[in-house]
Amino acid sequence: MAFTKKTVRDIDVAGKRVLMRVDFNVPLKDGVVTDDTRVRAAIPTIQYLKEHNAGIVLMSHLGRPKGDGPEPELSLRPAADKLAELTGYDVKFVDDTYGEKAAEAVAAVKPGDILVLENVRFLKAEKKNEPEVAERLASYGDVFVLDAFGTAHRAQGSVVGPAAHIPAVAGFLLEKEVDTLTSIFAEPERPFVAIVGGSKVSSKIGVLDHLIDSADTLVIGGGMAYTFFLAKGYKTVGTSLQEPDWIERAAEMLRKAEERGCKILLPVDNVVTDHFGEDAEGEVVASDSIPEDRMGMDIGPKTVELYCEAVKAAKTVFWNGPMGVFEIEQFSKGTEAVARAIAASDCTSIIGGGDSVAAINKFGLADKMSWISTGGGASMELVEGKALPGVEALLDA
Ligand code: ADP
Ligand code: MG
Repeated sequence: MAFTKKTVRDIDVAGKRVLMRVDFNVPLKDGVVTDDTRVRAAIPTIQYLKEHNAGIVLMSHLGRPKGDGPEPELSLRPAADKLAELTGYDVKFVDDTYGEKAAEAVAAVKPGDILVLENVRFLKAEKKNEPEVAERLASYGDVFVLDAFGTAHRAQGSVVGPAAHIPAVAGFLLEKEVDTLTSIFAEPERPFVAIVGGSKVSSKIGVLDHLIDSADTLVIGGGMAYTFFLAKGYKTVGTSLQEPDWIERAAEMLRKAEERGCKILLPVDNVVTDHFGEDAEGEVVASDSIPEDRMGMDIGPKTVELYCEAVKAAKTVFWNGPMGVFEIEQFSKGTEAVARAIAASDCTSIIGGGDSVAAINKFGLADKMSWISTGGGASMELVEGKALPGVEALLDA
């Protein structure tokens, strides 16, 4: 499946005012952007619009405001400053989104100008996509561009609202994300190895379900492995993360994989400890004999070898979810080894999910991957085979 919606390439933006929803939901510390990945990701579309002589009005959410009015620590001004710094463009900012002040600033936007509006979520009605929000925002542009992949799975005012009033198309980031995350499942170069970890089976069930349909091998690690151990009939997983209510579903997954000819790899050994903490010491035990008073924190060395072999054999790798508690140094080895194996391979490698991406960045391997998704929840919904409301609302190509 390729991208089936119109993009900025398909419309004439010259001399028009373009309202664009970006994902500038960046981490801040003392009013400074600490990770500018999301701002960088929006630049190609902004550059294109500017070069094609459009006046650009940018809007985004940032953090989780209460929605009852301005919260200075969640202002988008630092993100606007970061955009100016990264591009060298003159970027204006207005500390208003829906009021007269914003409308006046928008009216002053001329071709080639860039204006950033204040946090769209300082108003509750935005999240609920109430009609007055959509109408107000749509009045700011002749055309609407959605490039906020990270929020494209949410039917909120600034994501889907303007499309009901003005022509709506995709930006380059949205197009590339959707294209990448759907086409690998439609026509992966084989062998296609999917690696899923993270904390819970319950939060990844849709992802696992869909991957079993398309992957040749499904590699399971992280906290969810322990529920799979119980599904396989191991008597105990000690004090490891486990979801008793999901054992039956996990068993069903294993049966389904067998029917579909999808090979499932589960850990054969684990690094366990007696308590969860920075000072915890690890020891390696076989996965089927985890002591009652121990919790699994990482995959063990034999498992690492097995998983790296699978990666080596792959032509396509999709990875979501760390192999262990990678935030704690002594339990990050499994995640790091798998990340390094993917980085060393010349396979097509696609990484999705907030913590997996954080892990890759921590190991400094980001530029070795084919594609790192900027959207956690949105990328998971695509991998589950769901349509994203933001994308659905755009004009068909
Ligand atoms: P992503 O954000 O990449 O989709 P998740 O949010 O599903 O990943 O899971 C990430 C979290 O899973 C990390 O905080 C990590 O510490 C945790 N995790 C991984 N392995 C274990 C484990 N064995 N026990 C407890 N938590 C784990
Ligand atoms: Mg996460």
